[in-house]
Formats: sequence, C-alpha cells, structure tokens
Amino acid sequence: MERVHNFNAGPAVLPEEVLREAQQDLFNYKGMGLSVMEMSHRSKEYEAIINETRAAAKRIYNLGDDWEVLFLQGGASLQFLMVPMSFAQEGKPANYINTGQWSKKAISEAKKIGKSVHVAATSEDRNFCYIPKSWTLSDNPSYLHITTNNTIFGTEWKTDPDVPAGVPLIADMSSNFMSKPIDVEKYSMIYAGAQKNVGPSGTVVVLIKKDFLATAASGLPTMLDYQIHAKNESMYNTPATFTIYMIGLVLKWIENYGGLAKIEENNIAKAAYIYDAIDASNGFYKGTVDKADRSLMNITFRLPSEELEALFISEAKKQGMIGLKGHRDVGGCRASTYNSLPLTAAHALAEFMKSFQQQHG
Ligand SMILES: *Cc1c(COP(=O)(O)O)cnc(C)c1O
Repeated sequence: MERVHNFNAGPAVLPEEVLREAQQDLFNYKGMGLSVMEMSHRSKEYEAIINETRAAAKRIYNLGDDWEVLFLQGGASLQFLMVPMSFAQEGKPANYINTGQWSKKAISEAKKIGKSVHVAATSEDRNFCYIPKSWTLSDNPSYLHITTNNTIFGTEWKTDPDVPAGVPLIADMSSNFMSKPIDVEKYSMIYAGAQKNVGPSGTVVVLIKKDFLATAASGLPTMLDYQIHAKNESMYNTPATFTIYMIGLVLKWIENYGGLAKIEENNIAKAAYIYDAIDASNGFYKGTVDKADRSLMNITFRLPSEELEALFISEAKKQGMIGLKGHRDVGGCRASTYNSLPLTAAHALAEFMKSFQQQHG
C-alpha cells in the first residue's frame, strides 16, 4: 500500500528513511538478536543511543558545553508546570506572552501552583491571528515565556525576541523545534514535545543553559526536579527508550539533510505552495492569520462555507491527503507541514486546492 500525504498536527509524519531503519531495528538491533525496545536502558548499547541523540541535538543547534540536553516525559504539558515550579521565584512575577491555547495552558499551570503571573502581551483580542510586536514586562521578572509556533492558530514568531539582560527567555518550541536556524543564545531554555517535528510522542526534549539550570528550585518532588534529571543524564528512571532512539534517527536525518538551513529552505518551499494557492484563490481560500505572522509549520485556512470545508477534507482524503481538519477552536482547515513532510506532499495539496476551487468556486 502507498503511504498517504500526512498533514496531521501531531503526532505527525516521520521521514520514510527513518521508519524503514526503525522497522529493521525493531526486530533485531544491529545483529544483537533483540529489539531496540527490549534493551536495558542501562546497557552500553542503549547508552550509546541516548548519548548520540544528545550529541546530535547539540550539533544541530550548535550548543556548547554550557548547555544541558534532557529527555523527559509528561510532554510539553508537564513543562507548563515544571517551569514555574522551578524558575518562578518569590516576589518575581513569571511573565508570559499569550499567543494561543498552548500559551494559555502554560499560564494556567503557573497560576494553579500559586505563582504570580504577568501577561506581558496577548493577541487574544483578534482570536490569536497575530504575534504581538511589543510587550511590557513586569518589574523584576523571573523569566519571559513564549510559544514560538502556535500549532492551533497558525502563527509563528519570525525572530527570536530581544529581552533585557538578566531576564531568562524560555520557549515552548514544540511545533517548530529544529525547523529553522535560530539565535539559540537568546534563550535560557527551550522545550519541545517530540511528536511534531522530531519523533513520536513520549518525550519532551529540553535544552537548558547550565547556569540557568543551577537557579532551579531544589527540594522539589524528584520527578519534577530538573537538576536531578540532569545529574542522572535523563536516566533517573526509565526514559522513553524507543522514542529517544527514534529522535536520534530523526536528528541524524536532519543532519544528513544538510542541517537547519536546508531544512528551513524546504519548509519555506512547502509552505509557499500552499500559501500561494490561498493567495491566488481570489478569496475562495482565506488564510486565518496576518500574513507577516504566518507559520511555516501549521497553515490554517477557511473555505466559503462549512459544507465546502467538510467536502474539501473528504475529497482530499480520497486523494490520499489526510489530517486537514482544523482545530475546533479555529475551525476550517489546517495543513501541518513539519520537517518530515515531503515537498511532493505540499505540492500535491496545492494542486488539489486549485482543482477543488475550479470545481466548487
Ligand atoms: C502539541 C503542543 C503542546 C503539547 O504537547 P504534549 O507533548 O502533548 O504535552 C504544547 N505546546 C505546543 C506549542 C504544542 O504544539
């Protein structure tokens, strides 16, 4: 059977080469006579896997020895709690820029544990269809937290924001992690659920500056303590061994592809096919966000009616294109064009959009 063009928002498409390699290793890892899933996480073979995955993450983002790479569980959603628990200090508000549902959840977790929260900017006034261009920090902020790509609403930060010296910048990069070069030194911490851009679900990758990590609250419950995870090289308990192995394969794929600059080039080309189809449609397709803030990863659009949207999604499916239904908070359609989505898939969708419009426009 042919594989479909997979526009799912997450878990999402993975590179075909990666799936094929995993298929082999799943049964018999490099001639060891057992699956990668069946190995002890304390074995030297598995240690090599996690060490290489960590090293690849550092190479891809050019991280020096002043950075720690962690592979944790509980998804990006648990980071919403762990971040304020560890880094929101007494008398120093945790600052957030609210750009959509995921930001809201991050804010809500900080409030739930009684932290003082300051929303430095929000785009809720226009249903999160843009990225705020200015913000006002509180006095004495513990940190500023941003969501660099808004998976549901389809907006993306185009630059890494400048923050005053001494204010740690923390980013939820779940849906645009490793999708383009960034100025990583502007951040103190980056986290990303693997299942959008770098693997299957089950692991959140955390990149954290060691000097910032050293400021984390101590004495927290063990599994919520970044310093314990760091000290134990993400193996305080059993990590999601298979997911980390898969992340390793995807990172190797990114490096073989030519790194982030090449990945970004491909992501721009893919998004351009689809945005061009929207912009050339005389309003048949309507993008839902301000053009300047359009995401390269999640492309959201509406059709003239909900009936046509439903028909579009079902007709696309007949042509082997799946995952195009928008999130219920936005409605309409969403095409997720993560790193691993082939250019041919984006092209196929753009062509389908044109022919659908000819028939129904
Ligand atoms: C998917 C997503 C999350 C949630 O990730 P989980 O791993 O399911 O907890 C958080 N933030 C953003 C931006 C996302 O896209």
